[in-house]
Amino acid sequence: MSSKINQVVAFATGCEMPELPEVETVRRGLEPVMDGARFTKVELRRRDLRWPFPKDFAARLEGKTVTGLGRRAKYLMVDLSSGDVLIMHLGMSGSFHVFNPHLEPRAKRAAKDDDDLLGRYYHERAQHAAHDHVVFHMSSRAIVTFNDPRRFGFMKIVPRAKLDAEPLLKRLGPEPLGNAFDAATLAAACKGKKTSLKAALMDQRVVAGLGNIYVCEALHRALLSPKRRASTIADKNGAPNERAERLVDGIKAVLNDAIKAGGSSLRDHKRPDGELGMFQHRFRVYDREGQRCVTPGCAGVVKRIVQNGRSTFYCPACQK
Ligand SMILES: [Zn+2]
Repeated sequence: MSSKINQVVAFATGCEMPELPEVETVRRGLEPVMDGARFTKVELRRRDLRWPFPKDFAARLEGKTVTGLGRRAKYLMVDLSSGDVLIMHLGMSGSFHVFNPHLEPRAKRAAKDDDDLLGRYYHERAQHAAHDHVVFHMSSRAIVTFNDPRRFGFMKIVPRAKLDAEPLLKRLGPEPLGNAFDAATLAAACKGKKTSLKAALMDQRVVAGLGNIYVCEALHRALLSPKRRASTIADKNGAPNERAERLVDGIKAVLNDAIKAGGSSLRDHKRPDGELGMFQHRFRVYDREGQRCVTPGCAGVVKRIVQNGRSTFYCPACQK
């Protein structure tokens, strides 16, 4: 075990992409070392991830101070003193590794030569270094590395004034944990929709930040079938019914629980290998095919079906 790498923010959710709770957990892991700190040096190890980096990427970051670290849906939004916003997306396999010498034991720190930090850091995790594509050196002395073996992640810099027109963000629906997301807005978005409830919740225009895992989990908490037609949570005028209320409650509850679990795993996590099964133990239906349903009083068994090419896990007995 390495004491050099103080924090690894990563996931072990198989082929699933990080969703809102994972991204929020990353945000909370990065905030203490990046917010208020200046980029002293930015290293790009490749010209592209999912997309090419802008040519002036490092120049637009170096010397700038982070004035806020936010999140919109699954995007990390880093506000810069220059008026730019650095947008980062984890893709399928992206993770951030934070090396913060301030968190090391005092005795070790005293013996350390600053110039030696980086060399030792990479030496200790050489097996992953080939996938370290971006390295941020911060004035907080933290070194933040973005590692992404499959390179579906991306980073983009957009002036804050142009954020409203940004194609990535323009069509996003409401934040599910925000006040703007309630039964009325969800029902209105699902009004007349002939698609399944599962497909509607996966649609980022209906609600932003949910993916396969938390949609399955939310539907189970709401006791609603993923196959149910989306329009059935609204009346014909688009007003919410009791199903819409349950669904919104289920979505908010599962996200809040997962963010809480992510927060505690961040605090406890000291392993350097990047394999952290963050929330799996809390799943009620996801990846539990053939196991007993956990709904109190339900004797059902979790079933797996395929919807729009993705696995859906649900209990046919209690999810109607
Ligand atoms: Zn059940």
